[in-house]
Amino acid sequence: MILSQQRQHNIDPDSLNALPTGSGVYIFKGQGTLPLYIGKSVNIRSRVLSHLRTPDEAKMIAQTRSIDFIETAGELGALLLEARMIKEQSPLFNQRLRRTRRLCSIQLSDKNAGLALEIVDSKAVNLGTTPKLFGLFSSRHSAKSKLNELAQQHGLCKVVLGLEQTSTRGCFGLQIKTCLGACVGKEDRAQHDERLLSALKDLQVEVWPFSGAVELIEECNGWVQRHRVKNWCHLETWCSKTGQASQVSAFNPQDFDRDSYQILVKPIMLQTIKIQSC
Ligand SMILES: [Zn+2]
Repeated sequence: MILSQQRQHNIDPDSLNALPTGSGVYIFKGQGTLPLYIGKSVNIRSRVLSHLRTPDEAKMIAQTRSIDFIETAGELGALLLEARMIKEQSPLFNQRLRRTRRLCSIQLSDKNAGLALEIVDSKAVNLGTTPKLFGLFSSRHSAKSKLNELAQQHGLCKVVLGLEQTSTRGCFGLQIKTCLGACVGKEDRAQHDERLLSALKDLQVEVWPFSGAVELIEECNGWVQRHRVKNWCHLETWCSKTGQASQVSAFNPQDFDRDSYQILVKPIMLQTIKIQSC
């Protein structure tokens, strides 16, 4: 006999009934004080209910006793708050957005012979304000792996990319015919560099396009939140309901945070959000 399809859970029904249909962050809580899972949605209520129907999440649901939420005036505020809360609280069931203290990127520069590459580090270079950076990697090793992959795909020379020592016989790729010969003058260097640029294009890190901080404004039924950001970092959010700004903790203006960058880059570059300089 098939039993009721209703999924069993021990979640306080009042906490489910209280869930709003607007945007914000929701928090699955167990018996302890630490959250089990933190998520965001433009519709908190329907997103939480869809978690309850997801068989893969049965283990998390079984441990959940109540669900909390924090509303935001818009989606960007929800994304920023979610990223911050996950970093601060490391919930058991969140896989993403682990704090990476150090990041690397590939920096391009023009040398006499042609383009030159260097792997730079967020300790030495502000990744949000330095031009000609490509890719955000959690280590030098992963930046090099990416370059190796691009060399393979685009017939680039590993000596030119700085992945191999110079040799009079050319690079190893030349022998196995994966390099078109930029290292020995067999391929025109300008042509090689053009291919290099197009291979890197999708990885380009946008330079912060303002001279200082700006406010990103979200509004919902008269409720306004102003997110102050600078160099792709979220500094604080001012809320018209409280009349106060909640500062983002442990912020250093020189920091670069990959998650904030990824949240902010599209709305700012495409100007799909109201931006005010401050
Ligand atoms: Zn070569």
